[in-house]
Amino acid sequence: MIRIHKPKTAPKKLTTDGKQKCKSHCDAYSLNPSAYETNQEKFNFASSIYAHESVKEALIKAQHQKCCFCERIIGKNGDVEHFRPKGAYRQAQGEPLKYPAYYWLAYQWENLYLSCSYCNSRHKKNLFPLQDPNKRATNHNQRITKEIPLFIDCGKENPEEFIGFRAEYAYAIDGNKRGQITIDYLDLNSEDLVESRRQKLNDLRELNKILVSAIENPHNQKLQELADEIKVHLESSLADSALFAAAARCAINAKFQESDLI
Ligand SMILES: [Zn+2]
Repeated sequence: MIRIHKPKTAPKKLTTDGKQKCKSHCDAYSLNPSAYETNQEKFNFASSIYAHESVKEALIKAQHQKCCFCERIIGKNGDVEHFRPKGAYRQAQGEPLKYPAYYWLAYQWENLYLSCSYCNSRHKKNLFPLQDPNKRATNHNQRITKEIPLFIDCGKENPEEFIGFRAEYAYAIDGNKRGQITIDYLDLNSEDLVESRRQKLNDLRELNKILVSAIENPHNQKLQELADEIKVHLESSLADSALFAAAARCAINAKFQESDLI
């Protein structure tokens, strides 16, 4: 997971149609809160607004075609993910769904990301645990600023301050709870992800060996030229746009030595 820098200005679809639709949800809730709280009434969310082409395009660009959670490349196939779930939520895995969820944030730019189907549909789903569930905003008249979500919000904070990597394995830095919950609930150490990260780090490790060899053989001109090319490649492997950039950054900072400890 890396920090995502979305443009400050929301796509127009959200600030026009989205704003209007949000108002209609809020008005409907105010007329009969208990019907929504018991799930007898459901909001008719408009995916044609929150997942509009213009919204998806802006997210694809800001996220460099990667999933906001696992950094898999998803291209144009990602799902628009609501960081705070729109319809129903769970505080923890195995707990019953609670209604309504954050219906008033269904079209809010800050609440939208693009994620892969593994993270969105298989793992996160309706989960939205808070450090103190008693501070949860349960309708549009309450404030979300009192909440401390246990998931790291990559648009507001830097996930690399919470989640580090020992070689291909994610870990919570200093055992912090938010990092650990994010790793566990989103299954960021799934076999498949670990294997994909391992392949990338193996490639980088081999390139790094050539760099080390170039330093040890300063008079070998061919090796020096090759090293220059490799430096450019390594640099691009650490960019926000690179696959598994967070893991690559940790491996390079640790000079690939962490992997020997596992
Ligand atoms: Zn993902």
